Amino acid sequence: MINYIKVLVKHILDFIFPNHCLLCGTIIQNKNTICTECINNLAFRHKDKYIFCKTCGNVLEDINSICNCKKEHNYYFNEMRAVFYYDDSIKYIIHQMKFYNRYRICFDFAIIASFYYQDFIKANDIIIAVALSTKRKKERGYNQSAIIAKNIALKLNIPFNDKLVKRHKNTKPLSKAGGIEERKMITENAFSIEHDCISMFVGKNVLLVDDIFTTGSTVNEISKIIKENVGVLNIDVFCIARA
Ligand SMILES: [Zn+2]
Ligand SMILES: [Zn+2]
Repeated sequence: MINYIKVLVKHILDFIFPNHCLLCGTIIQNKNTICTECINNLAFRHKDKYIFCKTCGNVLEDINSICNCKKEHNYYFNEMRAVFYYDDSIKYIIHQMKFYNRYRICFDFAIIASFYYQDFIKANDIIIAVALSTKRKKERGYNQSAIIAKNIALKLNIPFNDKLVKRHKNTKPLSKAGGIEERKMITENAFSIEHDCISMFVGKNVLLVDDIFTTGSTVNEISKIIKENVGVLNIDVFCIARA
């Protein structure tokens, strides 16, 4: 009887507050935030036949081209993959996800990421996410990258840890920063290692998840501190969009 009432209440609530697609407004029958048609129209990077630099995601001229990003930025991570180009639709979706409490978008992104990038993600032993400072997490109520990372981990059955790297400097959002140098200065010394967690990372391949990859200064700063303090084997980066 209680179950029957629960189902009835759910149907009534669904009728009064139907689930609308974030982009086109159509009513969606499931819990997704974006309808299937709009998802298919998103700017997926893998749908292009371009050759991308495996580390920074830049488009390369041909298979023999060499990108000098590793030297130029002194990247501590090995490879990076991003699901989407940072076009207007993705920009809007990520903005809603971060600043308008639409954290359910994270679940959609996790499903998409686990589907298209399963092999890349599964090559790692443990997943972590870019941390927010305690203050920012309190303001927002959630860490979008951590929700995405945790749900990818659940889907692909990989351990997830959100304790290894702490963000103790309350930096201004990178989206408001100017050039590469300013971004580097903002992220420098913003993170620290939680020593209690180190043992579970020794000798492991680590996947670091973030929402947007621009110059990579945040993920690089985290990769640097991990590489210098924790005996990990390798760090790869996974992002939702490449700006
Ligand atoms: Zn739609
Ligand atoms: Zn590159």
